[in-house]
Amino acid sequence: MRLLLVEDDVMVASGIKLGLSGAGYAVDWVGSGEKALQVTQTESFDAAIIDLGLPKMDGLELTQTLRKSGLTLPILILTARDALEDRVHGLDYGADDYMVKPFELPELLARLRALLRRSQAATSSSVSFGSVTLDTAMRQAHVQTPQGMQLIDLGPREWTVLEYLMLQAPKPAAKEKILAALTGWDKEITANAVEVYISRLRGKLEPHGIALRSIRGFGYRLELAEPSS
Ligand code: CA
Repeated sequence: MRLLLVEDDVMVASGIKLGLSGAGYAVDWVGSGEKALQVTQTESFDAAIIDLGLPKMDGLELTQTLRKSGLTLPILILTARDALEDRVHGLDYGADDYMVKPFELPELLARLRALLRRSQAATSSSVSFGSVTLDTAMRQAHVQTPQGMQLIDLGPREWTVLEYLMLQAPKPAAKEKILAALTGWDKEITANAVEVYISRLRGKLEPHGIALRSIRGFGYRLELAEPSS
């Protein structure tokens, strides 16, 4: 899941970005409405978090402009102004939800999950490969076993890698694309980290008959295999 964060306050933005990245989202951060309009023309995001008080073009105007341009992604507005009028306004302008600063990270994560779930409810939010099924809105993976469906315990970044591989399957996924899904525009995660997550996923999926085959010089592909133990 890739999120766009539009916030001009560097401290607030880095805090939110850190929290969201820790929860496994790829976060791209811009500091102005103008920059946000620019990036949404070339990049695609699963949701946007927009601060109301931005220099020049404010958050409401940005939201309105994004909607006019046909973007349907969920938009969560952040505001320091705890005024009912602002809330009503924002929803008129096409925002999906509001949060008043300061807020706790768990609440932001919960609201985001709810927004993403709602936006994906219309389309199918589940993806299957072999015995494994992902619920992309709930960010959960289950495996079919003789004893029934079991939850696979995945860290946030393992989840992101698996989601990317499953969305590509049966085609192979390029290693740099997996890396991009993990980091957005940041470079703090190295290509070696992808190998670490792949190796952890192998340990969790191979017992259930899913292999992660390495494609030399390219990346990885999910394949059906004999269950190992
Ligand atoms: Ca601000």
